[in-house]
Amino acid sequence: MNLAKFPRVHLAHLPTPLEHMPRLSEALGGPDIYIKRDDCTGLSTGGNKTRKLEFLMAEAQAQGADMVMTQGATQSNHARQTAAAAAKLGMDCHILLEDRTGYNYDNYKHNGNVLLDHLHGATMEHRGPDLDMNAEMEAVAEKFRTEGRNVYTIPGGGSNATGALGYVNCALEMLNQFVTTGLNVDHIVHATGSAGTQAGLIVGLRAMNANIPLLGIGVRAPKAKQEENVYNLAVKTAEKLGCPGVVAREDVVANTDYVGPGYGMPAEDTLEAIDIFAKHEAILLDPVYSAKGGAGLIDLIRKGHFKKGEKVVFLHTGGAIGLTGYRHLFNVPE
Ligand SMILES: *Cc1c(COP(=O)(O)O)cnc(C)c1O
Repeated sequence: MNLAKFPRVHLAHLPTPLEHMPRLSEALGGPDIYIKRDDCTGLSTGGNKTRKLEFLMAEAQAQGADMVMTQGATQSNHARQTAAAAAKLGMDCHILLEDRTGYNYDNYKHNGNVLLDHLHGATMEHRGPDLDMNAEMEAVAEKFRTEGRNVYTIPGGGSNATGALGYVNCALEMLNQFVTTGLNVDHIVHATGSAGTQAGLIVGLRAMNANIPLLGIGVRAPKAKQEENVYNLAVKTAEKLGCPGVVAREDVVANTDYVGPGYGMPAEDTLEAIDIFAKHEAILLDPVYSAKGGAGLIDLIRKGHFKKGEKVVFLHTGGAIGLTGYRHLFNVPE
């Protein structure tokens, strides 16, 4: 495996910190919990899509693109990081935003990630739920192409084999941090959605022959579907990297018990995770992804799945700016 052969633009502040969470560990009374701060990748309030965009935007540049397009939910962190990367690299950005929640709150529709999309100069259009959003995007891209634009399209979440390389890189970075700090990690846990994060991580871990179990906490799809999506993308990513076959189907594990009412809609335990992380470690989780991952972590500690004496790393994938888009969830006194 040689990641350096793929074109890459440097957009993220790397390596992101790996920190201990002593107060959260003590409060939960289970394993020692560490946090990998991919909420601190730096680009326009950070998040996990920035690592993927290092490889995706380099491919766009190599193809001579003058415009990038992508798609996501209204409060998409991926759309915001893509808009930011395009601004930084001097490309136009057009995004399709899907209304997956039906929320009519002004903050949901105009604050948080949507505000930043706008500030970065992205143009946007909206779609209702239940459409094939990648197909919608390709149709719009074709229209721009007939007008002479060179458009590079990025799938939802930046999750293709090129984007997943960013999380192969993160796996290498984490393994190096574990070695240099002498941290013998038993589990890595993170929120999984469009699958690129988990697929890249599992390829990187297994290509380095690290047998640390990786657990994705789902935010949308049922377990079988989520694992299939991650596995299929891991296979493609391993092939692209020249190490086919490193990932076995059993290496891909998702737990989808913490999705709650649906994508982008928090459950009680989502809100509890936001509260616990904020009050014990001053870590901000978002209601769509990282707090569902956090809820899974907390519950699996309470149930004894992660045990005292073990060391668990929670990969914080970002998204806190979305809290302002979800202002309605929080009762702030006068
Ligand atoms: C996109 C996203 C995820 C999920 O990552 P995938 O690669 O799409 O599975 C998790 N957390 C946050 C904050 C995200 O924006």
